[in-house]
Amino acid sequence: MMLSEEAAYILKTVDYGEHGKILYAYTASGIKNAIARGVKKMQSPLRHLVQSGMLITMELSKSKFPTLKDARMLTYHQGIRDDILKTTVAATIRELIYFNVNEHDDHPKLFAFLKKVLTALDKTDAPLEVLMIFELKFLYFLGYGISFNKCSLCHATKHLQLDIYTGMMFCEAHSDALAVLIKEPEYAPLKYYLHVDIEKFKPYHHNKTTLNTLTNIIDGLYESHLSTKTKAKKLLKTLY
Ligand SMILES: [Zn+2]
Repeated sequence: MMLSEEAAYILKTVDYGEHGKILYAYTASGIKNAIARGVKKMQSPLRHLVQSGMLITMELSKSKFPTLKDARMLTYHQGIRDDILKTTVAATIRELIYFNVNEHDDHPKLFAFLKKVLTALDKTDAPLEVLMIFELKFLYFLGYGISFNKCSLCHATKHLQLDIYTGMMFCEAHSDALAVLIKEPEYAPLKYYLHVDIEKFKPYHHNKTTLNTLTNIIDGLYESHLSTKTKAKKLLKTLY
């Protein structure tokens, strides 16, 4: 029987029996689960491949709950593995994908973008900015993107301010007294991250205060739209 190979990014693994694992992988066709038998045995050739964060090709059996038949490494991402901050950024990205993607999302598009994000993260000296690019574009992908260029209510394009809790833009006439609004120079990096081609991205290298402000805005958007608080992100905040 011919088996088809598929590129996959392992989001997480859970122990299964004495020597096996269940793996949850993101692919161009969405999240796939499979049983990887015997992969915890010392002599298993797949031992080092069936780990979260590995980008591999996998061959699955065609059963209701598929078995991993074979796997091959695609990219190792040494730069991510050698760096605790980058490792934690990658773990945050995995949790965001695991908890938020749905069956009907455009998975070929997200998977292609994910591979570019991992390449950028591997090489960058600004991993937190790469995370913000992922977070803002992913939020947009899920239908909660910020429309930086017009007022959410009247579509005016001048003197806009960003409400940091809802991600909505307001003109002067529609600025709510209760909203916490920030002006262009402050939200400019967020606008840049949302629109930039990640392969051409140039980091700002913000100071810690600016980094915290921007991170808090993005976290606020995730809380108000998705109610996601990832464990990895909590850990990340203790690292910088
Ligand atoms: Zn308006």
